[in-house]
Amino acid sequence: MNMGRDDSRVVAVSIKDITYGYTHAPVLERINLDVNRGEVVGLLGPNGSGKSTLLKIIAGLIKPWSGSIEFGDGIGNRPVIGYMPQVDGIDLDFPITVEEVVALGLWNRSRGVMPWHTSRNVREKVYNVLEDLGMSSKAKSQIGELSGGEQKRVFLARAIVHDPELLLLDEPTTGADPSTRDDILMMLYELNRKTKVTIILSTHDIIGVAMNLPRVVCLNKSIMADGYAKDILTKDNLLRVYGLIDSIK
Ligand code: ADP
Ligand code: MG
Repeated sequence: MNMGRDDSRVVAVSIKDITYGYTHAPVLERINLDVNRGEVVGLLGPNGSGKSTLLKIIAGLIKPWSGSIEFGDGIGNRPVIGYMPQVDGIDLDFPITVEEVVALGLWNRSRGVMPWHTSRNVREKVYNVLEDLGMSSKAKSQIGELSGGEQKRVFLARAIVHDPELLLLDEPTTGADPSTRDDILMMLYELNRKTKVTIILSTHDIIGVAMNLPRVVCLNKSIMADGYAKDILTKDNLLRVYGLIDSIK
């Protein structure tokens, strides 16, 4: 029996020769990377290595100087994207509840023509995703009242509430304690297994995150290694990516 396609061989995102900088100096240089549909890939690198910038370029928030991003079928159809920004810079005293944050993930779909936060469809989706992430009891809480790990879950909920095909997560576990970190990773694997969503996440956590991912791309302005975590997370590679030695013999 060989029905349907083997999705693991279908390229979901193809990053072609991307170069970009905020000033005259590039922070990403000649990035080439293919990610297959349904893959879970980690971008690993120290602070300032370009992880957030690359995720923003894939999300379409930044236009690169040169190069391009191609999606899936090669005819330019953008997938439905879920994007979770690095959240440590947000002022969490801003008065907004958990359910409102999650509903924002559906905002661009409603086009502002409905009372989006009260419509039954929206509420149902928001509550379902909060339930899946173990956060439904906090739906009415102010986001600023939650712990760091709970906030991560809420922002994750916002990124997945509209059933994305491609999920871009910027440091989804940074600042979370080890058990929350493992919970978040398990949730992501479960989501990936159930929906086949392609996941690209960034991290600078070698032991807690990168070691547990099937595929890791080491980034520091350019791609320095790409492969199975076990194969590429070698001492020499890590010293190089983290800028401690310039080259290896
Ligand atoms: P990472 O996410 O790996 O920490 P970033 O992509 O955030 O790295 O940053 C890469 C480089 O670009 C850093 O040197 C950072 O200081 C610089 N940078 C990031 N965002 C901006 C910005 N909005 N304006 C100017 N420089 C920026
Ligand atoms: Mg970053």
